Amino acid sequence: MQVLVIGAGVVGLAVARAAARKGHEVVVAEAANAIGTGISSRNSEVIHGGMYYPTGTLRGRHCVRGRRMLYEFCAAHGVPHRKCGKLIVATNEAELEKIHAIEKQGQINDVEGLEMIGGNAARAMEPELFCIGALHSPETGIIDGHAYMLALRGDLEDLGGAIAFNTPVKGAARKNGQWQVTFGGSGGEFAFDAVVNCAGLGAQGVARAMPDYPATRVPRLIFGKGNYFSYAGKPVFSRLIYPTPIVGGLGVHVTLDLAGRMRFGPDVEWIERENYDVDPARAAAFYARIRTYWPGLPDGSLAPDYAGIRPKLTGPTEPQGDFLIDTPAQHGLPGLVQLFGIESPGLTSSLSLGEEVAGYLAS
Ligand SMILES: Cc1cc2nc3c(=O)[nH]c(=O)nc-3n(C[C@H](O)[C@H](O)[C@H](O)COP(=O)(O)OP(=O)(O)OC[C@H]3O[C@@H](n4cnc5c(N)ncnc54)[C@H](O)[C@@H]3O)c2cc1C
Repeated sequence: MQVLVIGAGVVGLAVARAAARKGHEVVVAEAANAIGTGISSRNSEVIHGGMYYPTGTLRGRHCVRGRRMLYEFCAAHGVPHRKCGKLIVATNEAELEKIHAIEKQGQINDVEGLEMIGGNAARAMEPELFCIGALHSPETGIIDGHAYMLALRGDLEDLGGAIAFNTPVKGAARKNGQWQVTFGGSGGEFAFDAVVNCAGLGAQGVARAMPDYPATRVPRLIFGKGNYFSYAGKPVFSRLIYPTPIVGGLGVHVTLDLAGRMRFGPDVEWIERENYDVDPARAAAFYARIRTYWPGLPDGSLAPDYAGIRPKLTGPTEPQGDFLIDTPAQHGLPGLVQLFGIESPGLTSSLSLGEEVAGYLAS
């Protein structure tokens, strides 16, 4: 089959690679001039364990399976990564209850190695930390996300696939048993047997530009912005440190990059329009939150860094959303797969999502 994947973020690239491995002829159309310029380059680059997500969700299933596949892929392709582990910390009794619940959910989700430890044991691991207890996740890690996307692209091209840059998809319609797709730029029109929409924050817009796809099936897009602050001093933690989760996110946590630098974020800011500025005034809330688990955070050490936007399907007062994959068996249009709401842990889940989506193409 001739397959068009819309979007060259981490999910589109993983879907394209999986489809090419099945023997399909694959083209990726990307509106920007490079891979991974969207959500995929504005995240924490954490390989998540998978303990947070409710039973039966796509996020839970793909995170755990995707994580295992991702570590294998990194080892086989020389993608820089480190299984540094993570502590989810409780600073009071109410938070302790919350992390017990996360441990339980992690066991249901089949997350390996989770262990509840006391405050002293946590401080023995991370001397600067204050907590009365913590959940240790040894399988959590960090990855060079761009190197990972380059490796996916390499595999795709080795399998005969191609990426067309500066090629925004403007619309697609069923014609003579195929999908007639219109491209902007110097693109024109081409026919494909199958189309996969992995356009991230653009997914709803792309879906609305398909007249055969019922508009009622296109979910709302809600922007859950996440701001990061960089830390100027010498890193004091060697593992990822997370507080208990908040509505819409995992809480302002310590993230590390592969060079060992520390930064903090992301928080959750509900916004109406795409905008990546980090408001320096948000630092006050960062200092307050971080000092609950790191009392030694010096004044004046945080600086606005970058922001990413989660493509959420639910708002602050609604229950947590899930990934949404709309398949031919569900909407009735052959060869069309739409992906919506691929927020965290989409990077961790990408290889597993890719394999599942490639499996729907022949239907
Ligand atoms: C703040 C934040 C922190 C996160 N942290 C983590 C983490 O630590 N670990 C984790 O596993 N996940 C994390 N995530 C989630 C993860 O980053 C995303 O799930 C993942 O990057 C989504 O990839 P994507 O390919 O779907 O989207 P994108 O990377 O946005 O790719 C979509 C692409 O489609 C292109 N496009 C859009 N419209 C069109 C069009 N009409 N035609 C052609 N191309 C188009 C865009 O240019 C873009 O390149 C985080 C997300 C955020 C926002």
